[in-house]
Amino acid sequence: MDTKQIVTRMAPSPTGRFHVGGIRTAFYNYAFARQKGGTFILRIEDTDKERNDEAYEQEVYEVFSWLGMDYDEVYRQSEHLPRHQEVLRELIEKGLAYEAEDANDGTGKVIRFKNPNKSITFTDQILGEVTVDTTDLGDFVIARNIDSPLYHLAVVIDDHDEDVTNVIRAQEHLANTPRQILLIEALGFDLPTYAHVPFILGPDGKKKLSKRDANVAALDYRDDGYLPEALLNFLAFIGWNPGTDQEVFSKDELIKTFSLDQVQKGPGGFNLDKLAWLNKQHLNKLSDEEFANYLEPEMTPIRSLPGFDQDIWMKVLPIVRERTHSFVDVRQMIESGDLGYYFADPDLDPQAIVWKKGTVEGTITHLAKVLKMLEGYKGAWDRESLEALLYPYAEEVGKGNVLWPLRYSLSGKDKSPDPFSLLVILGPEVSKRRVQQGIELTKKAA
Ligand code: GLU
Repeated sequence: MDTKQIVTRMAPSPTGRFHVGGIRTAFYNYAFARQKGGTFILRIEDTDKERNDEAYEQEVYEVFSWLGMDYDEVYRQSEHLPRHQEVLRELIEKGLAYEAEDANDGTGKVIRFKNPNKSITFTDQILGEVTVDTTDLGDFVIARNIDSPLYHLAVVIDDHDEDVTNVIRAQEHLANTPRQILLIEALGFDLPTYAHVPFILGPDGKKKLSKRDANVAALDYRDDGYLPEALLNFLAFIGWNPGTDQEVFSKDELIKTFSLDQVQKGPGGFNLDKLAWLNKQHLNKLSDEEFANYLEPEMTPIRSLPGFDQDIWMKVLPIVRERTHSFVDVRQMIESGDLGYYFADPDLDPQAIVWKKGTVEGTITHLAKVLKMLEGYKGAWDRESLEALLYPYAEEVGKGNVLWPLRYSLSGKDKSPDPFSLLVILGPEVSKRRVQQGIELTKKAA
């Protein structure tokens, strides 16, 4: 039995914002290593001096920390330059690589690998057996010069030196693998097991996921209020499923269940509705206090609503919670005025206060009756008591005739929670004042 300790790595190049698809690749590496009791390495491939940006590197760390993907070792590829140079010299000395004119620009020289021109076969854990004739690749470039080794060489040396056993990476790297295997063989290194993860497609299921479809920067998902576990759950399921009906997985459950053998060969689609649904399932697991903490990044505009009141907000929270899949919904509630009326009297539209099957006169009569009942009422201001107080009348004259104008007087909205929820939250004083305003408004329209 092979008892080799499993070592995986995620090797992002800090040349752009960390992509949401990169989270999936990282997570597969992470889950595989954790499941096998192995080691997970983060290697920043910062050798492209022109395109590297320190801010992008910091973003990588931020993404990993936000998602709770802890790595056991972290490296920056640039720190390995002396080792890369040493190997490069060795290849040249052995006649396995040589300096040549750069066919592309004709100005400088490059270092090329002497391609043995053979057929390569390897078993990919996702794609199965892959065979490539490397003759077409020619003597490919492995360094610009002795001080600038390029990706193929650097990645092969680092994977070897870091004892990486499994290279799990995006399928766009599949074309690079034969070159890397040739180098591995030339250097006498052990071949890692490869797994090339399929592409993520946009919602149309045809093209690769792009900015036009959805946010592609990983941290945008944090800023939009997706929980780490929900996002990992969602991404893990693009191109993989455990073959059961269970869809909602915690991070630990994913780690336990994940299997490279069940990753599909073909691309998987990215569906934002599915993400919203999953996020809701994960939000459901939060306690009230945790949910309030979760909303904290969105609280500034809420606290700036005219008349904002913390006690009322605590009563509104369950309603907000029920409607929230992510911050996208919360922002929409703020924007559409669905939170404003809890704190400040709404502007009422005389056209909207009368129920579609009701009349102006009826509306005035019913609201006046409701107001009278509320004014005479001394009992507990809770849902059950208020229903007991008002429902018999509403049922007698037609529920819509009473409950529509009541609800509209309280919220000023065609759509809002039911009038009893609003009465309870707003309390007796504000409720009565708003019903009075509703009556006056309707009278004006008469
Ligand atoms: N640095 C490469 C990239 O950002 C990945 C290298 C690899 O996984 O082999 O795409």
